[in-house]
Amino acid sequence: MEDPIQRLVRALKTLPGVGEKNAIRIAHHVMTGTREAGLELSGALADLVERARPCETCGVPSLGARCATCTDPRRDAGIVCVVEKFPDMLAIERSGEYRGLYHVLGGVLSPLDGVGPAELRLAALKARVKAGGVREVLIATNPTTEGEATAAYIADMLSASGVPLTRIASGIPMGGDIEYADRHTVARALRGRHAIKEREEQ
Ligand SMILES: [Zn+2]
Repeated sequence: MEDPIQRLVRALKTLPGVGEKNAIRIAHHVMTGTREAGLELSGALADLVERARPCETCGVPSLGARCATCTDPRRDAGIVCVVEKFPDMLAIERSGEYRGLYHVLGGVLSPLDGVGPAELRLAALKARVKAGGVREVLIATNPTTEGEATAAYIADMLSASGVPLTRIASGIPMGGDIEYADRHTVARALRGRHAIKEREEQ
């Protein structure tokens, strides 16, 4: 049996922003705290893990079949912003510039890493657009080689739908990540989005 302190430290280190030192501090804090506080922490974690699942519509982590964004009547359901991952959505939300809905791909096309179209939520996007009610698809994959290739794939995939496709403007540096861009840069990139021409020159 693994030492319970080492087990917790190893688990904590998988969390964003938690390194070895902080993980050990947290483990010691739990050990020296009350039994109630420790059980509350483990119970809260277990409860969230049991109840969290991807939103059926957009793929973001949700507590119900559909997430709070998809079920918010104040959001503009006619615009779907396609992002690589959940933190990119959070960055766009922080910009305060966007009131539409989202679609999380779960990554980017990367043949070398074995990520093809089937590994991403692309079929779900196609079905969502086909179902109607969408008047703009804003492609907000990151300005990396894979992000651009994925944007081009989506543009091609949805070209027959007739729904206007837009791409976030540059401003986020080439090779950069929306997740780490400041909110003003994200807001500018959203405001400056442009239409994707059919069969864009590569
Ligand atoms: Zn959703």
